[in-house]
Amino acid sequence: MSDTEHTLYNILLIGGFIAAPITFLILLRIPAPYGRHVREGWGPEMPRRWGWVVMELPAAIVLPLCVFLSQPEASAPVWIFIAAWELHYLHRSLIFPFRLRDKRKRNPILVVLMAIGFNVINGYLNGRYLGLKAGDYTQAWFADPRFVIGALLFVAGFAINWHADHMLLRLRRETETGYKIPRGGLYRRVSCPNYFGEIVEWTGWALMVWSWPGLLFAVWTAANLIPRARTHHAWYRAHFTDYPPDRKAVVPFLY
Ligand code: NDP
Repeated sequence: MSDTEHTLYNILLIGGFIAAPITFLILLRIPAPYGRHVREGWGPEMPRRWGWVVMELPAAIVLPLCVFLSQPEASAPVWIFIAAWELHYLHRSLIFPFRLRDKRKRNPILVVLMAIGFNVINGYLNGRYLGLKAGDYTQAWFADPRFVIGALLFVAGFAINWHADHMLLRLRRETETGYKIPRGGLYRRVSCPNYFGEIVEWTGWALMVWSWPGLLFAVWTAANLIPRARTHHAWYRAHFTDYPPDRKAVVPFLY
């Protein structure tokens, strides 16, 4: 890595750690304007489904590209990190959007552009790190408790996220646009188990990779989704008088 790139890398990494808590505080006050919180004043919009494709696909491309441009012969643990990443992002960009029920809904292009920016930077920071450090992850890493616990958390988080999204998508028939109270599964405990699963998933990935950019991604996921879960939770309570009173927002039994 050249000196210039090293400086740029550190600016993005340290800047990311500084920006995450600021973003968290902003999102507590200003909900990201997509999905049920979409509203006027955020500029032109595009079809929601294609928004998901174009904002998530860069992550699926940039991370492996950066790994293999840095180190063409990745070690076995690095292949596992990439496989986990691709499992998530290929699902999110190419399967999830085509399961959304209402094809006519739209999201602001600004949100899509911000997500593309995040995914490119995040893919670069993590991919470049894995490429440069590929030699440090030997076969012995598979027996390290950080890898084992991290991998288990990743799989559990992915399953929770997928199942919770699946339950939401099944609440509507093909042309329905409204909202219902989700019931069953982890919805018995929290309003947003999909966000809980996503946070667990990337915490697990960060643990199994054991890197600063991995940690940054987990922190950003929480900084993004905890305020959104709080907003969703308040929205449910405001819109459904029979909303289960003991349900938390995102972390079962706690918050
Ligand atoms: P939501 O839970 O807001 O919505 C998911 C889908 O279910 C949407 O199509 C939504 O419709 C529909 N839906 C939600 N609640 C109901 C309900 N009560 N009744 C009927 N339909 C409902 O999730 P997001 O759209 O915010 O996120 C989707 C996925 O992307 C999640 O798995 C999330 O974890 C992930 N994500 C990850 C981020 C990260 O930082 N890593 C950031 C953002 C999302 P509608 O769109 O019309 O509201």
